[in-house]
Amino acid sequence: MRSNFNIILKISDSCPLACDYCYYFRNIVSEHKKRPLKISIRTVQAICKRINEYSKSVDISKVFFSLHGGEPLTVWKRYFCKICDELERNLTVPYKLLLQSNGVLIDEEWINILKKYNVQLGISIDGPEKYQNVHRKLKNGKGSFEIVNSNILKCISNGLKPGVLLVIDPYFNPEEIFKYVVDDLTIEGMDILIRDYTVDTIPSEQYVQDVSSCLSRWMDLWLNHNNPNLHIRLFDSMLRVLQGKGSCLEFGFRNNINSIPTVTIYTDGEISPADELSSISSDFMNIQKNVHQNSFEEVFKLKKFEKIRVACTQVAEECKDCYLQNVCCGGAGLLERYSSKKGFRNRGVYCKVWKDLFTKLIEKLLLSGYSRDKLIKVLQGIKL
Ligand code: SF4
Ligand code: SF4
Repeated sequence: MRSNFNIILKISDSCPLACDYCYYFRNIVSEHKKRPLKISIRTVQAICKRINEYSKSVDISKVFFSLHGGEPLTVWKRYFCKICDELERNLTVPYKLLLQSNGVLIDEEWINILKKYNVQLGISIDGPEKYQNVHRKLKNGKGSFEIVNSNILKCISNGLKPGVLLVIDPYFNPEEIFKYVVDDLTIEGMDILIRDYTVDTIPSEQYVQDVSSCLSRWMDLWLNHNNPNLHIRLFDSMLRVLQGKGSCLEFGFRNNINSIPTVTIYTDGEISPADELSSISSDFMNIQKNVHQNSFEEVFKLKKFEKIRVACTQVAEECKDCYLQNVCCGGAGLLERYSSKKGFRNRGVYCKVWKDLFTKLIEKLLLSGYSRDKLIKVLQGIKL
């Protein structure tokens, strides 16, 4: 069976912003302090070699590189081109480059480079000025709105339409943010994320309730906008699983047991499980494998990857009575199901959020004439 291979590639280990919720520079995983500030060309070549080698035993349909940092654009332009050229020269399997930026350093030259290498751009924002400037500050303490807003508009006027990634603060007004992104910036591709909490760290039930109310308003905005070209990855995934298709999320909702696990590769070539799990602990992420010494086959034989694979395909005992278990499968991510006592064998801490959103979407689907029989089959876990 052909599979995509998702690699989060940290090409830089520095960033011009100092966001107060940054999981990379501010949480328990502080290994980055020991790493080179940018990936070396030797490491890029080693990654290509490992992928080519792995593709001899596994049928890889495409490798998706998500170029991350820190901020990936801090590697500067000529060096970035060198990285892209090395990938092009050395890889024997098809690949696609995606780049997640905070938008601060983008200028016309960068736009031309991203276009030249056909890089799909995502920009992380929190919303209009009054929200963006709360958490996403420059290192000098000033808000980043003015510069990021102007750079997004620059991208659009130069024919590079980015997607945006929003980390949801339940106390920000969704209507104002939606208006800013969809009407003012004319963005059509969005990803909305909720904060990374585990069973051990979730602040309170009230917080979950507030997230649920906030996302419910987001879903209403998306549904009422009635524009088939407006994509919000989280909601698209919910709709897809209710229609018996696969989710577009990394670890959430319904997962493909046969897919290749996502890995993160750091600037020194070190490999770890997907970045999204980094809030668990540095021990969890530290598997002591590196592209310079180890093959992906060795990496995927590790017990930790087996645990992730099992967690992706099994729901917790507490979910087994839930009528949504075959579509929600325990939540939108693995992190929310984690506790130090029971590992991933918990109901997701955002259970109420998913229950409310799936229920709303089911009602909407039925009202729009979607087949009740098909929906029942999907909820019962029967393949369409
Ligand atoms: S832009 Fe990203 S890497 Fe930089 S401080 Fe903010 S969250 Fe962290
Ligand atoms: S809605 Fe809650 S109980 Fe149901 S499957 Fe999802 S996390 Fe489990």
